[in-house]
Amino acid sequence: MWSFETDPEFQKELDWIRDFVRENVEPLDHILPSQWNIHDEGFKRLVRPLQAKVKERGLWACHLGPHLGGKGYGQLKLALMNEQLGRSRFGPITFGTQAPDTGNSEILAHYGTPEQKKKWLEPLLNNEIVSCYAMTEPQGGADPLMIQTTAEQDGEGWVINGEKWFSSNAKFAAFYIIMVKTEPEANDPYRRQSMFIVDARTPGIEIIRDYGYHGQAEPEHAHVRWTNVRVPPENLLGGRGDGFAVAQTRLGGGRLHHAMRAIAESQKCLDMTCERVVSRQTKGEPLWKQQMVQERIADAWIQLRQFRLMVLETAWLADQGHDWKDLRQQVSAVKVMMTKVLHDISSMALHLHGSLGITTDVPFSDHLMNSFMIGLADGPTEVHKSVVARQLLKQYRPNPEMFPDYVRWKAQEKQTQRVKEAG
Ligand SMILES: Cc1cc2nc3c(=O)[nH]c(=O)nc-3n(C[C@H](O)[C@H](O)[C@H](O)COP(=O)(O)OP(=O)(O)OC[C@H]3O[C@@H](n4cnc5c(N)ncnc54)[C@H](O)[C@@H]3O)c2cc1C
Repeated sequence: MWSFETDPEFQKELDWIRDFVRENVEPLDHILPSQWNIHDEGFKRLVRPLQAKVKERGLWACHLGPHLGGKGYGQLKLALMNEQLGRSRFGPITFGTQAPDTGNSEILAHYGTPEQKKKWLEPLLNNEIVSCYAMTEPQGGADPLMIQTTAEQDGEGWVINGEKWFSSNAKFAAFYIIMVKTEPEANDPYRRQSMFIVDARTPGIEIIRDYGYHGQAEPEHAHVRWTNVRVPPENLLGGRGDGFAVAQTRLGGGRLHHAMRAIAESQKCLDMTCERVVSRQTKGEPLWKQQMVQERIADAWIQLRQFRLMVLETAWLADQGHDWKDLRQQVSAVKVMMTKVLHDISSMALHLHGSLGITTDVPFSDHLMNSFMIGLADGPTEVHKSVVARQLLKQYRPNPEMFPDYVRWKAQEKQTQRVKEAG
C-alpha cells in the first residue's frame, strides 16, 4: 500500500503543533540565549510552561517508545512533526526532542543498564538535565578511526586522557557520552573503541574554548581536554569494543528529523521570499513578474517538494521494518540533500531580498550558515556521498567483455537470435 494521506487524527495533532510553534515557540528565538541553557531564568520562565503544555497534550518526547513514556510514533509521523518543530531553534527542546539528547537517550535506552537508565536517562527524558556527545577530536573528525583519546583500566575503574572537539553543549551538560580507545590491540579497527558515561563534574574535564558560528545565540561547541579523568566501571555503556556499534544506534532517525527541520527552515525562507517578490516593485511592476525571478521561485519549490518526498519515503521504509543498516544509502542521500536544499533556498532568499537580504535583520545568512553546519555535523557531505555510491555500486557486477551487452549491435544480435529461435 502506498498513500500520501495523513491519518486525520494525527493531522489534528500536526495542526495543533503548527499553531503552537508559530504563536508561542518561534518568538523565543528573538529573545532567549542558547536553547540548551536550561538554567537560564528566561528559559525557566518562558520555555518550562510551554513544555508543560506539550506534555499535557501528550506530545512530549514522541521519538521514544511507549515503554519510555513516548508515543511510539513511527518515523513518518516523527518526520512530519519535525517539519513543524524546525521552524524555531526552540521547537525541539519544547517538545523534548532536541539533539544530542535524543540520540544519547536512544543509546542509553538501548545499551544502558537499569542503574544507568535510572541515573541518566530518566532526568534526561524529563529535560531536567541536558547531555553532550563527545566523539570528534581536534586532529580529524571525518574519520572516526583517528580517535586517540584513551581509557585505561586502573584498579576497578578507568582513566580517560585526550582531547575532544566540537563537543556541543558541553558547558550546559550534566554528563558526557564519550567514545574512547580501550582496545588498541584489537585486529578489527572498528572494535577498538568503547563508550562511557561521564559525570560532567568529574575532576580533570576542562573546557579549553567554546566555539560559535554566525547565527548562534552563543558559543557552545567545546574543545575539551580530558586529563586523568577517573570513571567507575559501571559507567561503561555497552560492552568493551562496542563503541562503533553504539554510535551507529544513535544516527538513523536523528538524520531524518534533522532533514525535516531543514525543510522547515527552507520553507520559511521560501515563504518570506514569496511575500517579498509580490510586494517589491521594479520597472513599474512587482518583482515576481520578472521571469528570472519566477524561475528561481519555481526551482526552489520543486527542489523542496522533491526532497520532502525523499525524506518521507525513507521514513516510510523505516516504518515498514527496514533497519537503519538497510537504509544506509537512503539516509546518507537525505543527509547530502538537506545541505544542498537549505543552501540553495537560503541563498536564493538572501539574494532576492537584495541589500536587506544580507543584513542580520533577516535570518537568511543564519540559515545559509546552518546549511554548512548540517553538511559537516555528523559527517561531511563527501563521506555520505561516498556511502550512497558504494551502496549503489554493490548491486552491479563487472562485465568481462570489451563491449557491454547494451550496445545496440549486441542487443540487436541477441533479439534477432531470439526471434529466429521462436520460429
Ligand atoms: C555545528 C556542529 C556541531 C557538532 N557537534 C558535535 C558533537 O556534539 N559531538 C561530536 O563528537 N562532534 C560534533 N561535531 C563534529 C562533526 O562530527 C565533525 O565536524 C565532522 O565529522 C567533520 O570532522 P572535522 O570537522 O574534523 O573535519 P575534517 O575531518 O578535517 O574534514 C574536513 C573536510 O575534508 C573533506 N573530507 C574529509 N573526509 C573526506 C572524505 N572521506 N572524502 C572526501 N572529502 C573528505 C570534507 O570536505 C570535510 O569537510 C559537530 C560539528 C559541527 C559543525
